[in-house]
Amino acid sequence: MIFMKEDLAVNLKQQKKYRLRRIAVVVLALTLFLGSAYYTGAALASRAFRQPVQPASSSSHQPAGLGNSSSMPQENPPAPPQNSSQASPSSQSTAQSSSESETTASETCPPQEQTDPFADICTPETDFQELDPQDKVAYLTFDDGPSELTLPLLDILDQYGVKATFFDIGRTDDASKKAMRETVRRGHTLGVHSYTHDYKQIYASKDAFLEDFSKEFRLIRDTTGVSPSIYRFAGGSVNSFNHPVIGSIVQEMKNRGFVYYDWNVSSGDASGKNYSSEQIASNILKGCQGHNRAIILCHNSKPKRATLEAMPTVIEELKAQGYRFAALDETVLPIKFKLPE
Ligand SMILES: [Zn+2]
Repeated sequence: MIFMKEDLAVNLKQQKKYRLRRIAVVVLALTLFLGSAYYTGAALASRAFRQPVQPASSSSHQPAGLGNSSSMPQENPPAPPQNSSQASPSSQSTAQSSSESETTASETCPPQEQTDPFADICTPETDFQELDPQDKVAYLTFDDGPSELTLPLLDILDQYGVKATFFDIGRTDDASKKAMRETVRRGHTLGVHSYTHDYKQIYASKDAFLEDFSKEFRLIRDTTGVSPSIYRFAGGSVNSFNHPVIGSIVQEMKNRGFVYYDWNVSSGDASGKNYSSEQIASNILKGCQGHNRAIILCHNSKPKRATLEAMPTVIEELKAQGYRFAALDETVLPIKFKLPE
């Protein structure tokens, strides 16, 4: 009997042990389940945070209110160039208003690859503003600053209540940084031009371009606190240095959300002809004829004093002709040269 009692006690002990083991297994299973659910939720939440909401339509950067997109010139694949492959960037005949091809969901910002050294080089995509064909708008754009002529130019623009766009290069001295901050503070747009402005270097490859672009992007962002969302190619999108790589660069930058702007009116201040301020004003005013939307190429580097001095005449004349002035931003439909095949 005692033996049996002991036997029973052992049996009860084993059952208790078994029950405890079962509880332990259930607790472990629950812990594992809850843990993985939490991890999945956190991963999804962080993904949702990093991926901006895509517009309902997949056609980002599609100009609104311009009718059937298929009737618009498509950027990709590029149409054959009208002129020779050496088409001059300043040639107005190569300029076109373009829309962009449809963006797929995978082309989002920022890139998901953790190894991408340029993961911060991106900007959220937005739609273009609707255009009113009757609206006369002049977009003054100034490349190659900042320089000692930037603050005087900002003063002239302030005097007329005009906002403009500056595509800057890599200048890191205090005066240049102050000029960049003033440009933003006074309500103008600061875009990326190039850090080095060295054609051979930046157009050596897509990665070389990104390397240069990222330096200027970060300089502007870190100096002004504003991340640029638009850019202008050094030498314009069509130049004799970048034919083999321009297609892949354009696609890469589009994937990262950036919009680039060529021009349809040139001041001629980079032609090497040493124009007087009167001639520069005349070039711009003639160039604007027939263009309700004028994206005007000017320069703001140190030698371009004549351009600075031409501004009062240009602004007064264009205002008298019914133009309003505006700064570019990523919602303005760009002017782009026709890329070579
Ligand atoms: Zn330039």
